[in-house]
Amino acid sequence: MAVPKSKISRSRRNMRRAHDAISAGAHHECSNCGELKRPHHVCASCGHYDGRDVVEAEA
Ligand SMILES: [Zn+2]
Repeated sequence: MAVPKSKISRSRRNMRRAHDAISAGAHHECSNCGELKRPHHVCASCGHYDGRDVVEAEA
């Protein structure tokens, strides 16, 4: 089993974790229904994409 040669200091450990925070992710208002949707994805609530109704009649 691989064993670390020396202890990682609190400072180094925290420096490594400085980039671990997860971000909210991209989202934008749908131009058709105003619901939040991911860019370049079909709207989950109304099925619109690129100004037209893509075949996805959800409720
Ligand atoms: Zn929509």
